[in-house]
Amino acid sequence: MGLEKYSRQILFEPIGQRGQERLLQSRVAIIGCGALGAVQAEALARAGVGFLRLADRDFVEESNLQRQIMFEERDARERLPKAIACQRRIRRINSDIGVEALAADVNPTNIEEIIGDVDLVLDGTDNFETRYLINDACVKHGKPWIYGAAVGSYGLSMTIIPHETPCFRCVLEQLPPPGSSPTCDTVGVILPIVFMIASIQVVEALKLLTGQRDQLHRSIIQIDVWNATYHRIKLGALLEKSDCPTCRHGRYEFLDARIRHLASGLCGRNAVYISQSKRVKIDLPSLAERLRSVGAVKLTEHLLSLHINGYEITLFADGHCIVKGTTDVDLARKLYAQYIGA
Ligand SMILES: [Zn+2]
Repeated sequence: MGLEKYSRQILFEPIGQRGQERLLQSRVAIIGCGALGAVQAEALARAGVGFLRLADRDFVEESNLQRQIMFEERDARERLPKAIACQRRIRRINSDIGVEALAADVNPTNIEEIIGDVDLVLDGTDNFETRYLINDACVKHGKPWIYGAAVGSYGLSMTIIPHETPCFRCVLEQLPPPGSSPTCDTVGVILPIVFMIASIQVVEALKLLTGQRDQLHRSIIQIDVWNATYHRIKLGALLEKSDCPTCRHGRYEFLDARIRHLASGLCGRNAVYISQSKRVKIDLPSLAERLRSVGAVKLTEHLLSLHINGYEITLFADGHCIVKGTTDVDLARKLYAQYIGA
């Protein structure tokens, strides 16, 4: 494979030909490929990172298109899982690299496998719970990961190298109580901050993958793109001072599923998300047959949706599901138990 397509990146002295060759050998997992994850995926694919694993539990909807650059109107009409839509576009962007799509929930049963054979993990999620889970798995296996979050016009990022930098839990020890921090649900989000935060994550990724750890920013970067402010909080001696349950004491509470909510509200939607606590494989076509007498059923290659009494239940083959039409978690669980099974 020629390196010509990467010539301008090779000319960039900190990367060079050697850096480019390392990128082509690199493997990255992106957890969540909606807003931040899509920008990360596109940038790393164009940069020639050799393998991308894209994991996402959601499907494309029209309201995503304003900020999720991988998706088009057609994807929303087809209700494509985001991981699949992202994979298709990445293949059109750079056919030299490997790209794997996991239209699945990332949870304690599968995360160690998802990160097991990659060099780096990128956070493209929209919730604290999955970030703590990524942190547990990455600290346990000594994998670097790059946290990023964007809400409104504000965002932040931090790079975690287990036992070398503070981990996510060193900085934020407790899961914030629901409703305590602003979400895309309450204050919205604009695309420019998504680009900025994802760009910072991608630059850190390029440094890490080309073996330049000494170049990492080693801080929490905070940006408000509307107010044009930029802050860096140096992490300094936090690692030494921290009494972190995860990286100091090796307690992986999220990975061990001691702290886990199996159902939660979804960012920006009148919907509840339900995941499985064990591995299952649902035969969607035969379930679709069974549900046809119950309500309006739609079956695609990747998911099944059931419309009933004003609710819409969208189910993936790994058993995770999105119940639309309510934010009541108990009600959503009841609907799931009633129609899909416990
Ligand atoms: Zn820690």
